[in-house]
Amino acid sequence: MSFDHAHLLGIEPLAPHDITTILDLADQYADLGRSSAKHGTALAGLTQINMFFENSTRTQASFELAGKRLGADVMSMAMQASSIKKGETLIDTAMTLNAMHPDLLVVRHPHSGAVDLLAQKVNCAVLNAGDGRHEHPTQALLDALTIRRAKGRLHRLSIAICGDIAHSRVARSNIILLGKMENRIRLIGPPTLMPAGIAEFGVEVFDDMKKGLEGVDVVMMLRLQRERMDGGFIPSEREYYHRYGLDAEKLAHAAPDAIVMHPGPMNRGVEIDGELADDLRRSVIQQQVEMGVAVRMAAMDLLARGLRARRNTKAVMA
Ligand code: ASP
Repeated sequence: MSFDHAHLLGIEPLAPHDITTILDLADQYADLGRSSAKHGTALAGLTQINMFFENSTRTQASFELAGKRLGADVMSMAMQASSIKKGETLIDTAMTLNAMHPDLLVVRHPHSGAVDLLAQKVNCAVLNAGDGRHEHPTQALLDALTIRRAKGRLHRLSIAICGDIAHSRVARSNIILLGKMENRIRLIGPPTLMPAGIAEFGVEVFDDMKKGLEGVDVVMMLRLQRERMDGGFIPSEREYYHRYGLDAEKLAHAAPDAIVMHPGPMNRGVEIDGELADDLRRSVIQQQVEMGVAVRMAAMDLLARGLRARRNTKAVMA
């Protein structure tokens, strides 16, 4: 099993075989998560620090659980209460934590590129838990694992990503990953929520849900990222739901066995009908949460193997 990356900063630098390596290991960890003895030792003796400068429920909880299940010492910093409030810069905070010799640093930050910058300053493995509207690699990987398990493959599928594409790091990471694995990607949403130059990504763009969903295997819904909007991008939530909210009627245009996904947090009645989100015959939203833990275990395990190997080489050379 080879994974030749010091950090997990995005999907962009990964090759298809890296993606498959992470997903294969995550499949094993998903089985472990379903057993009554959930513990592994891959991260025993290592220290994992979680720094979330933006709110998070699922991602932070699952990184914490993933580290604990693999035996790491896990510390989650309450960044709202930290010295950041007193004006300390991101880099100062990172350097302070670096002096405590963490092995894995999990970082979420509102600014695109902040996590890459931080990775250049510390000497441990850094995992991007979402930076601005740039990337959210573990989300795309957990989505990929959920799709692979539900559909039995991760290539030549027709996948619709719907809603606020422009402000979504989830959409961006998924477009890159699903494209690398040779799927057909359709983006559906109002033109105001489509990023400029999106056609260069080799995707098809629709502003009509029924046309866009025609025959697709996977429907991925996105939240309106209001915290990243600086103006009126939609007329009203009611109008938005009417045109772009996923309900049974619109879903009927997709393939009969199409699955419904959402990264959470979900706004029922805005981008998705609440009953459809809970319909276990179509919705795999709970599986996404489950796969989140498994994928984060796999990603941290692979990065830790590389970290240990590099440290051993250094020790031999010294
Ligand atoms: N939880 C995802 C993210 O952090 C999606 C969202 O917030 O809508 O990007």
